[in-house]
Amino acid sequence: MEFQTIIEPFRIKTVEPIRRTTRAQRLEAIQEAGYNPFLLKAEDVLIDLLTDSGTGAMSSRQWAGMMVGDESYAGARSFYRFEAAVREITGFKHILPTHQGRAAERILFGSALKPGDIVPNNTHFDTTRANVEYRKAIALDIPIPEARDPKRYHPFKGNMDLEKLEQVLRENPGRVPLVMITITNNSGGGQPVSMANIRGASEIAHRYGVPLFIDACRFAENAWFIKMREEGYADKSPLEIAQELFSYADGATMSAKKDGMANIGGFLAMNDDALAQKCRNMEILGEGFPTYGGLAGYDLEAIAVGLFEALNEDYLRYRIRSIEYLGERMKKVGIPFVEPTGGHAVYIDARELLPHIPWYEYPAWALSLVLYVEGGIRSVEIGSVMFGRQPDGTEKPAAMELVRLAFPRRVYTQSHVDYLAEVLDYIKGLVPRIRGVRIVEEPPVLRHFTARFEPAHGALVVDKE
Ligand SMILES: *Cc1c(COP(=O)(O)O)cnc(C)c1O
Repeated sequence: MEFQTIIEPFRIKTVEPIRRTTRAQRLEAIQEAGYNPFLLKAEDVLIDLLTDSGTGAMSSRQWAGMMVGDESYAGARSFYRFEAAVREITGFKHILPTHQGRAAERILFGSALKPGDIVPNNTHFDTTRANVEYRKAIALDIPIPEARDPKRYHPFKGNMDLEKLEQVLRENPGRVPLVMITITNNSGGGQPVSMANIRGASEIAHRYGVPLFIDACRFAENAWFIKMREEGYADKSPLEIAQELFSYADGATMSAKKDGMANIGGFLAMNDDALAQKCRNMEILGEGFPTYGGLAGYDLEAIAVGLFEALNEDYLRYRIRSIEYLGERMKKVGIPFVEPTGGHAVYIDARELLPHIPWYEYPAWALSLVLYVEGGIRSVEIGSVMFGRQPDGTEKPAAMELVRLAFPRRVYTQSHVDYLAEVLDYIKGLVPRIRGVRIVEEPPVLRHFTARFEPAHGALVVDKE
């Protein structure tokens, strides 16, 4: 008998209590935080879906690995274990550990970009875009058109528009030092990229003599979608699929805080010897010696174990299913979201849910505040606060106004998801009374992390405060 219920494929060995608060306490906390969920104290949050980055639970094997971490400054045993794990999965020749993904980006772009260069990507993640733009280069998003329509089904909605890629390369000779492809496409809804699309991007880039780099943060989740949805991969293991997809690329940046199943860490990997030398020099400047790269030996051990746990089939089945389950619950309640659900998160379509809030009053930001105040749930806006500000200081609406509910790995159970669905059902009833926000104070880059806001019309939910 094959039973249908997909269970959490682990049992809980250590628990961490979470704190209940009242609505009045949460309203006070969010006011103090300048109406910015990033500035809340985590203690004041009941269910924290701000990010799946570095928030996962480590396994007993990872903790055991940490105990045998080698803290030697250079040539530590833990580095060689880490290097072997990354190499088995990716096949890349040079592997540089970094303290997290953005450090890999900073080193790569600092070594490979010059002002005026163009980096095409299916969709740049915010730190990736910021690191490209910091080098005065252009971060160009070229997702397939389906990606911009939250309602449209596509099995690989994270795909890159390969015709556009070819056009960019043809029209800008010498200005594209590398092509990037982000798996899964985080800013585009956690949607997967197909093997055919990665292979296609690789062929086109190589025809123009340009290397392909993979932003590999969620490579294991992406491999699972390929196994489930792409013809010819049903009988391959996630590891084999990952190995194949990396074989089409010349390098990768990785945040081990995602599919590394670790609380910190990342890496930069590549095949090119000369570029690797340049990157190592930059790494020493900012991260540390290339055999630890800003990490402790025990972190390298945790990642070496975690990368393979992320590829475990039972884990991936449970992981993707739990996100899908929340999508099903939301559908019943009538909350619009990006369909199909992606790998690590559900993205609520705030533009559709709150059509009465104009983009310049940040509907998705407002919704994330209401989620916190009403239910103690912390989420993140991926909309015009995150992407609206242009490099020249002007504002324009983001492609979508989304609220991301990202799930930490192996942390929450089905009852947490059921609670969330109940809160969303309640919020649905408040919709006509929800109002937008305005920015009071903002930094020049990555403003969503530290900007301060206030309700644009006196209250977040009229007649409630
Ligand atoms: C998280 C993330 C990064 C950056 O990694 P950090 O570890 O947060 O610095 C880059 N790209 C994508 C797609 C990500 O999700």
